[in-house]
Amino acid sequence: MLIETRQISKVYTLGDVPVNALKDVSIVIDKGEFVAIMGPSGSGKSSFMNLIGCLDTPTSGQYLLDGIDVSKLGRDGRSAVRNKKIGFVFQGFNLLSRTSAIENVELPMTYSNIPAKERKQRSSHALSLVGLSGREHHNPNQLSGGQQQRVAIARALVNNAPIILADEPTGNLDTATSKEIMELFVRLNNESGITVILVTHEPDIATYSKRLIRFSDGCVVSDTSVSGMG
Ligand code: ADP
Ligand code: MG
Repeated sequence: MLIETRQISKVYTLGDVPVNALKDVSIVIDKGEFVAIMGPSGSGKSSFMNLIGCLDTPTSGQYLLDGIDVSKLGRDGRSAVRNKKIGFVFQGFNLLSRTSAIENVELPMTYSNIPAKERKQRSSHALSLVGLSGREHHNPNQLSGGQQQRVAIARALVNNAPIILADEPTGNLDTATSKEIMELFVRLNNESGITVILVTHEPDIATYSKRLIRFSDGCVVSDTSVSGMG
């Protein structure tokens, strides 16, 4: 198994009122799965993604990522694991403006000792995988929303991480473009075996996945397989 959470809980203390964002969540996700996460606003979806993305630590419970007990790691250890294992895709694309597509894709390699030439080659290859060959030198403001999200997906792929985590990746896109982005995730999952875990509030988007996990009030309330046809 690639991802295993064992009774993880997350409590935020805002002022003096504790918020139980996640309550004893135990989930196993294997390599190559395509998981959609749904649930009402405030049900803990983003908290869960932040924990499995090693951006945060659980208040209690254990998290194993590819056999590594992340709950035992400090900040630097988590960031090293994160870099190797996880690519992130966000609702708002989170690209640097006035920075070309290829330079945006190169960013996750900034702190590695990969030679400049290889960085360019890898970035250019990642852009070709998302159908953006020829757009390397366009800045985000010269690209459509769908193309910007493709750049962000190329950035998530460039370190060859086995997992892509996407929180509402189609939330800022129109229906036709959302469909194209979901088809891209399906292709990456099918052809490269990348494990895709995404949060969505749109049932149509969830149909592209193979497994649907629903959260409510910090708990998993259902976990079912989906046809994965889109
Ligand atoms: P979702 O993504 O499903 O909308 P979240 O995981 O963002 O839900 O939030 C779950 C609960 O935790 C909510 O009640 C939210 O207000 C609270 N919460 C999330 N992040 C924080 C934080 N950094 N500090 C305090 N409370 C938070
Ligand atoms: Mg959220």
